[in-house]
Amino acid sequence: MADILRERERQVFRKGQEASFQIDCEKQSVAGSVSQRACVFCGSRVVLYPIADALHIVHGPIGCASYTWDIRGSLSSGPELHRLSFSTDLQELDVVHGGEKKLHAALCELIEEHKPKAAFVYATCIVGVIGDDMEAVCKSVSKEKGIPVLAVHSEGFKGTKKDGYRAACDALLQLVGTGSTEGVSAKSINILGDFNLAGETWMIRDYYKRMGVEVVSCITGDGRIDDIRRAHGAALNVVQCSGSMTYLAKSMKEKYGIPFMRVSYFGVEDMSKSLYDVAKHFKDKEMLKLTQNMVREELQRIMPLLAEYKKDLQGKRAAIYVGGAFKAFSLVTALRHLGMTTVMVGSQTGNKDDYEQLRQICDEGTIIADDSNPLELSSFLEEKDVDVFIGGVKERPIAYKLGIGFCDHNHERKEALAGFEGMVNFAREVHGSVMSPVWRLTPRKRASSTLEVLK
Ligand code: SF4
Repeated sequence: MADILRERERQVFRKGQEASFQIDCEKQSVAGSVSQRACVFCGSRVVLYPIADALHIVHGPIGCASYTWDIRGSLSSGPELHRLSFSTDLQELDVVHGGEKKLHAALCELIEEHKPKAAFVYATCIVGVIGDDMEAVCKSVSKEKGIPVLAVHSEGFKGTKKDGYRAACDALLQLVGTGSTEGVSAKSINILGDFNLAGETWMIRDYYKRMGVEVVSCITGDGRIDDIRRAHGAALNVVQCSGSMTYLAKSMKEKYGIPFMRVSYFGVEDMSKSLYDVAKHFKDKEMLKLTQNMVREELQRIMPLLAEYKKDLQGKRAAIYVGGAFKAFSLVTALRHLGMTTVMVGSQTGNKDDYEQLRQICDEGTIIADDSNPLELSSFLEEKDVDVFIGGVKERPIAYKLGIGFCDHNHERKEALAGFEGMVNFAREVHGSVMSPVWRLTPRKRASSTLEVLK
């Protein structure tokens, strides 16, 4: 059985072995559990980072900036200013005397040099401790330079990664509504929560184009400041990464009356359903027909390819640990499509409704975990004799140390895993890892050897 700290016992649920569904979530990580979560600042940075024509400056010690440098693929079809990492590099004397002057000077110099459309200034832990008035500095530079300069209140210690998402959305809300909406179609959307890690936003944009839907802005994959400024003109917000973007969607509904819907672009079923949901929302027969034709065409192309991978993957066991729970729903379905069973699934930021939905779609015996840690994850993988672990950069070494296949479904991947083409890429990645001959040379570690492995 898994090594679970007593204080965390209520954050792990085993379907079928517990009388009623009870899981604790949306709370601070337990001290000593070495959570897989990142800090508040990191949460903000990953959300805003893909805005490619903005200046991103980290107000704090250089370590915070290097920790998040190029943290996501976040491809851009144009400017690449986001890929440069700027920091005020606060040092001991700045901590004693305050870093406001340094921030002001850095912003002015960088704006002169790079001519960005806007600037985001991220607060880190030490800025929260010394109390720099970032808001005042941003206002003054904005006035001097004539572009929006936005303070992101993301002091690392002040909550969970989810609070960082919210701080990022608060900064975005200052931009939305400041541009002209002239010429925006009545059949238009904003894409929220796709980060264009490996070109997915381009694929999704193309599907919408083929349906006759105008995409006003992508918040935040391959993002542009001017598009975000006119995002309030769109007729619908389509939210993929619900953990990070639901707050923004709800705020835009309140302020501008824009409805929103949750979608997922991962897996055949969820991808198709998302497109149909958008078409149905606009109640346009022609759009629905175009969508049907497109989905049929895409499925005819990819189903034979998926069937080939399924031959080898049938009956294999998978574990999933991702940031937001909504992605986990699609992964469970996508794996089932490949004949695989999900035996463990968890997330860093899921809420009670998310975990209830996971409980409903998972098989008996599946472990569901909130805010897990490497020791727990290792023991779950061993206990369930998993063939492939699907997660992000921090989960990769756990899988490899145990001799288990791994599929990166997070920030650092280079392969587009969304859309119909993405499903084929996903099947190929999972197949390549599970069936790799390397496992003959590094046999899988079985239960009871976890501590040995982690040494
Ligand atoms: S926890 Fe604080 S010091 Fe560490 S990276 Fe985050 S903001 Fe920087």
